[in-house]
Amino acid sequence: MIPYVTDTPDIRIPANLLPTDGRFGAGPSKVRPEAIAALAAAAPSYLGTSHRQKTVKSVVGSLRAGLASLFSLPDGYEVVLGNGGTTCFWDAATFGLIETKSQHLSFGEFSSKFATAAAQAPHLGDPEIIKADVGTHPLPVARDDIDLYALTHNETSTGVMMPILRPEGAALPADGGGLVAVDATSGAGGLAVDPAEFDAYYFAPQKCFGSDGGLWVSLLSPAAVERIGTIAATGRWVPASMDLTIALDNSRLDQTYNTPALATIFLFDDQVRWFNDNGGLEFSAGRSARSAEILYTWAENSGFTTPFVAREQDRSNVIGTIDFDDSIDAAVVAAVLRANGIVDTEPYRKLGRNQLRIAMFPAIDPEDIAALCACITHVVGALAQ
Ligand SMILES: *Cc1c(COP(=O)(O)O)cnc(C)c1O
Repeated sequence: MIPYVTDTPDIRIPANLLPTDGRFGAGPSKVRPEAIAALAAAAPSYLGTSHRQKTVKSVVGSLRAGLASLFSLPDGYEVVLGNGGTTCFWDAATFGLIETKSQHLSFGEFSSKFATAAAQAPHLGDPEIIKADVGTHPLPVARDDIDLYALTHNETSTGVMMPILRPEGAALPADGGGLVAVDATSGAGGLAVDPAEFDAYYFAPQKCFGSDGGLWVSLLSPAAVERIGTIAATGRWVPASMDLTIALDNSRLDQTYNTPALATIFLFDDQVRWFNDNGGLEFSAGRSARSAEILYTWAENSGFTTPFVAREQDRSNVIGTIDFDDSIDAAVVAAVLRANGIVDTEPYRKLGRNQLRIAMFPAIDPEDIAALCACITHVVGALAQ
């Protein structure tokens, strides 16, 4: 074990305080043991078999149908998937979803990245970038020359969530308005959303979906599907692995263009089934909401912590960022937790704050969030001795 600080104080957290599962990372995040057991049971006839045959295609089909159900997608919406994770979807979107000019809300590390990708694309005009201080979020502004508004449901680097709504006063895409594309990588499955408010809601499975990385999924409205066709008809050059027309064609056949990670797809489907079997998005987002309530209530009352995000409605239900009093070194707390099997509570490095960042994805038991709070209180008390 490599601690983050050289001299981790030797503090043993009493076993009765420890959470059942010590994984609180923002991604890759906790994978449910039940999903791993299901994968192990299915493995002999599933892993190591062709992704073009029925066994795997039926899992992809189940995943696509499960996501359509989880998000209550209206008729005409499509579930499209491809390889490479969210970062590759940004590139695919610069090729296949943005016509000429996009608007990006930039309020942290992740939301700034799509803006950069669009700014660097030689075939696009300069994007409009609306920034806000970390710990807050800006709002999109309706404009006639914007053909895609890029929103982020949950900014994973700062723990800020924002409601997903079309820009106030913007025409619907069917009436010539821009598409709304939402990076929901860390929010999807853990936050409520109305499909009428987006045209592309995209994410990867290593966060709320308790699986592994390397895949992207995008829930596309009919307007987004039409946009993909319109851009393709202009003859714009697109590398095949980034081509959304190819991704769409393959997804409709319950396949990906090139070979996907089969275990990732299986675990992803298992998680979506677990959500749907227990009540859908209300169940999964409800677990995160309960965890958030526990964490922020504790943080406001501990006497040595405060939630980093000032406005209550901006505080994320899926990623909590908790500032520590200057008298306590949060990095030491994270190192002690790590030495006790509680991992990945370190803050987002580039934010540079004396804080812990705690994931509250649906797989993470709210009772384990309560246990984590008790462990932190114990560690801070022991450090003061
Ligand atoms: C994790 C994350 C990403 C990056 O996802 P990859 O699959 O690693 O490319 C992008 N956006 C947000 C909001 C994230 O949380």
